[in-house]
Amino acid sequence: MSVGVEALFTSALGLQSPWVVEDVKLETARRRIDFEIGCQATALACPACGGAAQPVHDRLRRSWRHLDFFQFEAWLHCDVPRVACAGCGKTTQAPVPWARPGSGFTAAFEALALALCRELPVRQAANLLRCLDKQLWRRLEFYVGQARAQESFAGVRTVGIDETSLRRGQHYITVVHDLDAKRLLFATEERDHQTVVDFAADLKAHGGDPAEVRHVCMDMSAAYAKGAALALPQAQISYDRFHVIAMANEAMDQVRREEMRDEAPAVRSALGTHDRKTLRQLMWGMRRNPSGWSRSQTNAMHWLQHSTLRSARAWRLKRALQAVYAAAREHNKPDDAGADLRAWLSWARRSRLEPFKKLATTIKDRFSAVVRGMLDHRSNAYVEAMNGLLQQAKRAARGFRTAANFITIAYLRMSKLKHLPAHPFSSAGAR
Ligand SMILES: [Zn+2]
Repeated sequence: MSVGVEALFTSALGLQSPWVVEDVKLETARRRIDFEIGCQATALACPACGGAAQPVHDRLRRSWRHLDFFQFEAWLHCDVPRVACAGCGKTTQAPVPWARPGSGFTAAFEALALALCRELPVRQAANLLRCLDKQLWRRLEFYVGQARAQESFAGVRTVGIDETSLRRGQHYITVVHDLDAKRLLFATEERDHQTVVDFAADLKAHGGDPAEVRHVCMDMSAAYAKGAALALPQAQISYDRFHVIAMANEAMDQVRREEMRDEAPAVRSALGTHDRKTLRQLMWGMRRNPSGWSRSQTNAMHWLQHSTLRSARAWRLKRALQAVYAAAREHNKPDDAGADLRAWLSWARRSRLEPFKKLATTIKDRFSAVVRGMLDHRSNAYVEAMNGLLQQAKRAARGFRTAANFITIAYLRMSKLKHLPAHPFSSAGAR
């Protein structure tokens, strides 16, 4: 046994000559295991210029947190040689094979931390690893930045531009996805036309060509349209279902709010109640699809549908637009989709509901791009899936929810980065 302990851990840590484990100290009370690593060379290649066999000048004591061994917190310690080079005249600390320069964690520990942060909120990962979340954020930023710098965006043809906010209604972040490869390409604060220009520059920096982008799926903001015209000259625009339906919901909400404010007695008498709760049920019932109605929502919606309220008309208009989209998904014919949408627009224009008249104008001005979006099932489904992932990324950044941290986590989880360290527990065969 005495022969083997140091040699065993030398190979368990993956060390090779001249690095060897010279001592192992196990402290069961503190649940801690300490490895003393020695560098048995008296001469090393100069890290600065590469000059071979330069003399070791002195040694500096350093420590690293490593993956736990069994239930013990593991630490590596080493007097790291500094090489005094006769060639370049510099005195330089030798790199150690188990950690990157300047880090107090071993590379294996960092790789595990990264793997945990893909699945768990960062704070929770830090608790599991018994370190500070601040320490993890620094490393996430480093590895994600490094991996992203090596990523190639060559051949990107179809992108989706979307916005999200860190807190409701503020702190906007624009995200750009590759809709073919289904990955996040770019995220940045702000949501103006410059954002799209910045994306095009980043695409270029990663070997992509903005002139090769043929298709952009986005919301109807004028800023994105201006940016796309400036920076993605060959791209055909389509407006995705998600955003158009959201605008119809917003128009409907506006009609309901105004009617409740200006004609509260009429609304109450149509619903047969003065109950505030029923009015709230009505709001949710109008927003939700009927299949998701609760009993009290069904009740409120029953009275709404038998009323002559403006809110009832607004709700029918929204449902009709949803039906136009559903039909397009079924028949998949641009001409039929266009005819159905035109019929809806004419109804909306005659509705005497200002928000819907406005929406009809907005859609009419972008008619063919809206129709394209009706038939683009790929991006419609993807945009909604991505929204779910973005919400998870926000939760993962809880406690340190800055824009930079959110963007780092989003890249880590959604960019399919190929140059991140491998999970230290993945099997040797899987690497
Ligand atoms: Zn040198």
